[in-house]
This record gives sequence, structure tokens and C-alpha cells, in this order.
Amino acid sequence: MYKGIAASRGIGIGKAFVVKEKTDTTVYREKKIPDTEVDNEITRFTKAVEATDIYYDQVAEKSKDVLSESEQQVFQAYKLVLKDPIFKDMVTGSIRDELLCAEGAVIKSVELTKSMFLALNDEYMRQRADDIDNVGKQILISLTGSQSTDLSMLTEDSIIIAEDLTPADTVSMNRKFVKGFAVEKGGETSHTAIIARTMEIPALVGCGDKIRDISHGDTLIIDGQEGILIAKPTPDELKNYLEKQKQYLEELEKIKALKNEPGRTLDGKNVHLVGNIAKPEEAKEVLEKGGDGIGLFRTEFLYLNRKELPSEEDQFKAYKEVAEVMKDRPCIIRTLDIGGDKQSALINMPKEDNPFMGYRAIRICLKEKEMFKTQLRAILRASAYGNLKIMFPMISCLEELRAAKEILNEAKAELDEKNIPYNRDIQVGIMIEIPSAAMAADILAQEADFFSIGTNDLCQYTLAVDRMNENISSLYNPLNIGVLRLIKRVIDCAHEFGIMVGMCGEMASNPEYTSLLLGLGLDEFSMVPASIPHVKQAVRNTTYDDAVNLAEEILSVNESDKIKTILRGKLNAH
Ligand code: PEP
Ligand code: MG
Repeated sequence: MYKGIAASRGIGIGKAFVVKEKTDTTVYREKKIPDTEVDNEITRFTKAVEATDIYYDQVAEKSKDVLSESEQQVFQAYKLVLKDPIFKDMVTGSIRDELLCAEGAVIKSVELTKSMFLALNDEYMRQRADDIDNVGKQILISLTGSQSTDLSMLTEDSIIIAEDLTPADTVSMNRKFVKGFAVEKGGETSHTAIIARTMEIPALVGCGDKIRDISHGDTLIIDGQEGILIAKPTPDELKNYLEKQKQYLEELEKIKALKNEPGRTLDGKNVHLVGNIAKPEEAKEVLEKGGDGIGLFRTEFLYLNRKELPSEEDQFKAYKEVAEVMKDRPCIIRTLDIGGDKQSALINMPKEDNPFMGYRAIRICLKEKEMFKTQLRAILRASAYGNLKIMFPMISCLEELRAAKEILNEAKAELDEKNIPYNRDIQVGIMIEIPSAAMAADILAQEADFFSIGTNDLCQYTLAVDRMNENISSLYNPLNIGVLRLIKRVIDCAHEFGIMVGMCGEMASNPEYTSLLLGLGLDEFSMVPASIPHVKQAVRNTTYDDAVNLAEEILSVNESDKIKTILRGKLNAH
């Protein structure tokens, strides 16, 4: 049995699909062949290129529903590199003249081409160097027959075991066969964990390297509630978990039936339950799960996995799609929050020792003013089609809010000049995710139209606990009394100045915390769509009076273990 951090509920049973480390190329680098093998090696290379070409077609086809058209163009770019005659000549030349094996010739040619592109010191060429690198890796996978991380090719119920999964791995997963995943890295609020919850796949993160013992094909059970992974279960364990799985699915059906019921407490207080999304297509999901709007659109995903910055038009289309799907329901569009664990090659971001405390989010936008304005114009234009609001991430002080608003005013003026319509009264709010902002909430509330508490970052900065570091994940605790006091302060200040306060960090998605947050006065809970029915059930099972009493009781308990026991007890009693 292995323990990990419970990242996404549910019970999954399947065979282990172990995603191997990337091909170790060192053994091939200098490997020579006898000259009698030259033709053979060239044929191997040609076949590997053909297999890679087919592979890109298959992945492009499979990703049609999950990637936008412009994102899918990546595969076309790869195919062009693959068929480039100069690249082909370089590889075959190295095999013929230097008697390198096909793998060695590919490695050498990729490195040479890459260094030529990089020497040009141009952003566009830097990206082409990345293309060459990706294509080279894929050819090596074909040549060595090593296990690729291609999760679209699964053919049986599987549980994925990996060091970590990139967004590219997860989008191409064949959902039908992925019954769960367990990864070595990450914490409860890492983006791998958030993606698992969005996809409703049981998952554990932060399992550490002990899960490397698991062999490809082992039968596995994953319990995403308790954070447990069982390898080679006994017949009794299997029977038990099949029963548990059945109960879980029955319970889930009951909860899902609440879809059209309001998020209202037993004594009639309405609570706004809304969704967090990362792609426009996910807006529909929020409605399907019975959400009242969107509390966080993480727009940085429009900037990832692509070759150039998204244009104003691309972004306008994405935001308009969300606005139109959600009709008059409020949708909060968060401006770019790149950096931290969401790096992009498109923006000049220096390598940093401490990226979560470095150049990210609003800090980048205030410097890259034109890029920021492009996004703001796109949001403003889309605001003519629905009920959009703008939210700035990572605000640490009043000056930053003012500077961001100033740029927003410039964007508005540019649209005015061209007579382009937009909502002139669009609300402008901020995320409260830095302790200084929480402490200055009374000041910020006077110049922001709403707050949304980002507990994922607020916890990591308040507790000095890296949200990605599995070694200290037990310290990452939103029930720490220091964090709870900050949350209370933010809510009280917002209400004192008459503005709405929501929460879009993962804390809002855990039904164990619902009564407490409700009792503290939170107006809006924003979460991955799959969690909406669970939190709705928790809201509908309590009275507001009870929740207020609970919150008072909790704030007088100083130890988070005791707080947890009280909250668990309350939830179970309901
Ligand atoms: C947060 O920090 O709580 C948040 C919602 O933002 P992200 O997880 O995207 O950093
Ligand atoms: Mg954040």
C-alpha cells in the first residue's frame, strides 16, 4: 500500500501503466556501427520518421475535441520539421560519414540544428529550436521502441503511474481507459491535481519515488478520497473496493440529482456556487454541474502549449464563447497569471530559483504592457456579449491595483476611439492571495469591485510552504489558524465596504470546509465544476445560523487537528 495526497475523489481499479523516464540518450550518443550496417541504419531512421508522422496525425485527431484549432497547428509544425530535407540529410550524412548509429545521428543533428537556431537569438527561432527538440525526442522514442508518454493509445482500464504529468499528457489521455493516476510530484493545489479534479479522475499526487516499485501491468486500486494506492490487492481487498466503488457511484448519482436545485441553506440563505475553468469549452460543464456562473477563468491556459502569443481576436473569441454560454450569469475572467508552475516560452521569463515568488502574473503584465492591453481589449470587447468581470491576480498593494486599472483605462480609450462597444460598467476585482493584500483588505476594498480569495497561494505564502513540494505537504494546511484569521479579515473588510467576496482557491471545493466558510460570511464559492454538486449538498444540509456558530467555535480553537476533527464530525453528522 502506498500513501499519497488525495487529489481527486473516486475509486479506480485497473492495470498499472507506468510512464517511463524519458529515453536515456547517453548510451547512443557516440555509438558507432560497422560500415556494413549503414543502409540498415538509414532504413531504421526512415521508418522511425514514418512512424512519427503517423503518430502526430493520430495525436492531432485525438486532440481535436480538447485543443483549439491554433493549438492543433503544433502538430502540423512538427510534421514540417520531421520532413525537412536538410534535417534528413544531416542525419543520413552522420550515419554514412561518421558511422554513427541512427539514434546517435538524430541526437547530433538535433543538437546542431538547435544550436544554430539559438545562436540567432530571436524569439521565433528559439521556438523552432523547441520544435526540433520535440520532434527529435519522438523519433528517438520510435527508434528505441521505448514507452512513450502517449496516453491516448491505452487499450484497457489503466491507472497511470508517473513522475508527473504535463498538461499535454493529460489532454491526450484516453478518458475511457484512464481509471486513475498517481504521480510522484506535486501537492493538493498543483495544477496536475486541479486537472485531475476537472477531469473527474481519481488521483493521488505527491506519492514520492516509492511508487517506482510498481511494475507495468500490476493490478492497482486507487482511493482518491483517502489518498491510498494498493498494488496487487488480495481478492478480499478487491471485493471490498468494488463494493466501496459501487457505493461511491450511487452517492454521486444522488448528489448529481441536485443539479437544478438552488445552493440554499436549510434556513433560506442563498449561496453563489460557481465554476473554475481553464478553457472556454469547460463553461458548458459548469452549467451541466448546476453552477451559477464562473468565478475564475484561468486565462493563462490560452497562452500555454502554443507557438506564439494569442492574438486579441483569438482571445476575444474565447471570452465571447464563455460569455454567450453563460448568458447573464456572472463570469470572472482573470487576467494572465503565468509564472510559478505555469511557465511559458512565449514570454521572456528568466530562469529563477524561486518562481512562485518571482516574476509572475500581474508583475509581468505591468511590464509587458502591450501584451496586457491586448488581453484587456479582448475581455472588454467580449463584455458586450454577457456578464463579464475582470480580475487581477497576485495584487500585493494598492499601487499595483491602480497601475493595472490605469492600463485598463487605456484599453478602454483605444476601443472608444474605434467606437467598439463594451460594458462601460464592467466590474474590476482582485484576487487576495498574498498576505499583504489580506492585511490591506480594508484599503483595497475601497478601490476594487470584488474580492476572490486565492487560498492556493494565500496558504503557501502565509505558511511559507511551497504548494508543489511533496516533502512538506503536511504543513500545507488551510485550517491553520493564521490562514483562517486572514480569510475572516478579508471577508469582514469586503463586507464593511459593501463588496462581494468569493473564494476560488481549492479550499472552496472541499465540502468539509463549506459550513465554516459559509459561517465566516463567504458570498461565493468557486471550484472545479465536478465539485459543485458536492459543495451544493453541504450547503443544503446546513442552516446559516449553525454555520455562523460553527465558524465562531472554530476561531476559538487554536489547533488545526482539532478543527479538522470538528469539521469532519459536522459533515458526517449531516
Ligand atoms: C489560488 O492561488 O488560490 C488560485 C486560485 O490561483 P492559481 O491556483 O491559479 O494560482
Ligand atoms: Mg494563485
